[in-house]
Amino acid sequence: RFLPASEDPKVAIIGLGYVGSCFAAVLSERGWDVVGVDTDSRLVEELTAGHCRYQEDGLAGLLRDGIAAGRLRVTTDYAAVRDADVLLIAVGTPVGADGSLMDEQLREACLRVSRHLREGHLLVLKSTVPPGTTREFVLPLLQESGLVCGEHFGLAFTPERFAEGTALRELRSLPIVVGGIDADSTRDAADFWRRALGVEVIPLASPETAEIVKLADNWWIDLNIALANELAKFCGLFEVDVLDVISAANTVPKGTGKVNILLPSVGVGGSCLVKDPWMVWHTARERGLEIHTAPTGRAVNTGMPEYTAQLIIDGLVRLGKDPARSTVAVLGAAFKNDTGDLRATPVEGVVTTLTKAGVTVRVYDPLVDPLQAEVLLGIVPSASLGETVRDADCVALMALHQEFASLDFAGLPVADPCLVLDGRAYYGKEKISELRGLGYAYAGVGR
Ligand code: NAD
Repeated sequence: RFLPASEDPKVAIIGLGYVGSCFAAVLSERGWDVVGVDTDSRLVEELTAGHCRYQEDGLAGLLRDGIAAGRLRVTTDYAAVRDADVLLIAVGTPVGADGSLMDEQLREACLRVSRHLREGHLLVLKSTVPPGTTREFVLPLLQESGLVCGEHFGLAFTPERFAEGTALRELRSLPIVVGGIDADSTRDAADFWRRALGVEVIPLASPETAEIVKLADNWWIDLNIALANELAKFCGLFEVDVLDVISAANTVPKGTGKVNILLPSVGVGGSCLVKDPWMVWHTARERGLEIHTAPTGRAVNTGMPEYTAQLIIDGLVRLGKDPARSTVAVLGAAFKNDTGDLRATPVEGVVTTLTKAGVTVRVYDPLVDPLQAEVLLGIVPSASLGETVRDADCVALMALHQEFASLDFAGLPVADPCLVLDGRAYYGKEKISELRGLGYAYAGVGR
């Protein structure tokens, strides 16, 4: 077996980014012995000092507790993996402009692990990769150790499927899929996840199956949001609220479930949805298969920030305002709710389009790193919500962080009249009438 049968396994996590940090937090919370290895020495120093870069509910506290109790160690030294039983690899897997995997992080991680590999290790790859990567790329690099997979060590692919903003909750509850290189690897990796998280585990026929499951998840989400976005634009032609259409359409049973059209929005960002469909497209193309849906979804969603900025400009004009003399208060710069992640945030496109049109833009987001936001958006983020909305002609909600959920619109010192632009279809009919009652104009994507 590649897993201690009785005592708790010791776990090494290679790559302490968003995903790796969440695992380090949750596994050390279980009381397990966890070591995290990252090549970014600043990140390791920050974590050791009790600081967490990622704004994810509950994460910083768990990491601090784990480190203070000695259950969690973080280091840049790969020798630390030797004592572990299970090695999780969660390094970044970005893609290039053509959708091909930029494999430097993964190559280095595998090569460095291979120098410390020993009999009995179980390796689990969590990073999202094109199908075939575990078998054709990771396995040969690990076997440079001279050890043989299946005989001396186990290897499986189990993708991470959580969403930022709800990461810890989902990590502890979502079913996990496992595809091992051989039956022993699948069985032991499945066992590991059952013991680690107590969640449903779905063993699959091969690593390739599990690799494709992850890509299918994100390909589907991106395309589904693209459908919702085009549906929203279509509804806009008829002054129909897209939310009325979606909630009614979603009542029809189809196949094994119900129609499940997701919500339209300002766009799609983060580190996964913007790259994984391209991974599918590129991998298929290399093998002579042309995939049409993935690039279509990407094109629709990439156009949404500009479309949303235009909704704001049109809304201002409808209120009799000159956009070039108007101020827009953007609330939320992160790519979605309750995260501080600015990677590929659609808010960047909104800000750029508005600024080009001469609009004065202010941005406030309590979760993002202000320096990173300044570099990305080209404006210094406001220090407070009050400062952001003062005399604003439009309040543009781009992420409904907890701080904004209970926003008291009656008390906001905005201009009169003022437009509320709902960037993610947050508000239902009651809230919209309440806003109108307070004298606001309301607009949203397809609303
Ligand atoms: P990230 O960029 O935040 O983290 C990657 C970490 O790996 C960084 O801290 C980096 O310093 C470290 N690293 C790079 N090379 C290394 C090496 N050779 N050895 C040790 N550490 C190294 O990435 P992330 O968002 O955590 O994503 C990791 C993987 O999980 C990606 O494949 C991503 O597609 C996938 N994923 C991410 C999410 C998400 O919500 N962020 C969700 C599901 C899946």
